[in-house]
Amino acid sequence: MSLVNNVLICDPIDDIGISILSKKGLKITNNPKITTEDLLKEVGKYEIIIVRSRTKITKQVIEAAKNVKIIARVGVGLDNIDTEEANKRQISVLNSPEAAMNSVSELVIGFMINLSRKILLADAETKKGNWIKNELNGTELRGKYLGIIGVGSIGRNLGRLARSLRMNLIGYDPVPIDREFVKEVGMIITDLQTLVESSDFISCHVPSLPETKNMFNDKFFAKMKSSAYFINTSRGDVVDEDALYDALLNHRIAGAALDVFQKEPTTNNRLIQLPNIICSPHIGAQTKEAQELASNIIAEKIIQKLLEEKENMM
Ligand code: NAD
Repeated sequence: MSLVNNVLICDPIDDIGISILSKKGLKITNNPKITTEDLLKEVGKYEIIIVRSRTKITKQVIEAAKNVKIIARVGVGLDNIDTEEANKRQISVLNSPEAAMNSVSELVIGFMINLSRKILLADAETKKGNWIKNELNGTELRGKYLGIIGVGSIGRNLGRLARSLRMNLIGYDPVPIDREFVKEVGMIITDLQTLVESSDFISCHVPSLPETKNMFNDKFFAKMKSSAYFINTSRGDVVDEDALYDALLNHRIAGAALDVFQKEPTTNNRLIQLPNIICSPHIGAQTKEAQELASNIIAEKIIQKLLEEKENMM
């Protein structure tokens, strides 16, 4: 079935999505470097807009997008789309949170191994010609308690990977956690306080919500074991960065790893320059596989939406 619609792609996306949409007869304009000025001029011609995170779909853009019925975000966060305005105008907003699940979970495993074996320090010193073997006594992940806060799709996938490294799992989520999963990985379900006090590694996978803003604060870090590590690959605003800085500076916790920050790109130099933190520039979903999957999923969701609309009109 051919679905004739004009699609504007505003950011670089994997070719697979473009190919799926083209094969269904959609007319694609691929302009991955479009400026805001050009977008405002051109957007009125299109029924579907596809973005990643670079292009901002503001109220002004939506007002200019007279014919748009679908805004699709190849990826997770909808922070760059005025969803309230889109809803008001009955424009469907699609995204592809499923695609990043494995990439983010593998990054957490990488962070845990880096924190416990100090691989970044080992590499830097060895390259400088310093043989600091005796200062690099690490710990194994095997048998350690990994506390997962927010046991949604990434939290569960991380749990499965960590289990294969023979870690013990503790989980906290205000929503009941899938029983089959809990049985499969032998996760201990607790309240937040017990998790924080008992874990050797804590990885958070909560959404950015008013209730989760600065949820990882002074009180939280004070309850952690002094030998424990804190990892955030979810959203930057869930961590009080000043509180994390104090906890790391005063060795109240052993270390931390952050992929996301309150402000991105981060300018919090005093935090990221500490020796017991490792950082990455929001690369959780930045793998070939995740980008391909996200593009594929979004193309399929667009087609599904158009078919539903067509059926409703008949
Ligand atoms: P999800 O919706 O599947 O899971 C989130 C879980 O958090 C849910 O089970 C929910 O009940 C739970 N939760 C909500 N409030 C909570 C609270 N106060 N305390 C504990 N748990 C709470 O989401 P997901 O796909 O697993 O994504 C998790 C996070 O990862 C999101 O913030 C998402 O934006 C982020 N993310 C980051 C990257 C990256 O590039 N670093 C990529 C993808 C997703």
